[in-house]
Amino acid sequence: MSDTAKPDVTIPTAPAADAPTATYQASCHCGAFSYNVTASPPLNDPSATVMECNCSICERNGYLLIYVPDERVSFTKGAIEDFRSYSFASKKMNHYFCGTCGASCMIRSKDPSFFPGITCVNVRMLRDVDLKTLNLKFGDGKNLW
Ligand SMILES: [Zn+2]
Repeated sequence: MSDTAKPDVTIPTAPAADAPTATYQASCHCGAFSYNVTASPPLNDPSATVMECNCSICERNGYLLIYVPDERVSFTKGAIEDFRSYSFASKKMNHYFCGTCGASCMIRSKDPSFFPGITCVNVRMLRDVDLKTLNLKFGDGKNLW
């Protein structure tokens, strides 16, 4: 897993309960969905990484992803079941987007044996985050799944 010649395919796990966190406000473009995302570590922490992947859906949607436990995504407007969703290939993942403005907000597994309890959050929806300062990590999803 520390072999840097290979892409990192580690399935993310929940951070330690006492790890530092930061909570960000997020919304889709039209505002139909608003939610708070608590990230650990905070995105401005030197150890924080954001995944940029070249798989077919990430490329098209421009996802920049972090992984948080489901309970660290809390909706203040709308709800996960109000999103439109899309899945493909193995159909293990639901890709959630706003049915009005089309913003691609998050991804969750619908297979309890795959990525359980983790939400992949598109940081492009987060307010007050300067994308240029993020520590992007390249994921070679095109050649993995
Ligand atoms: Zn919207």
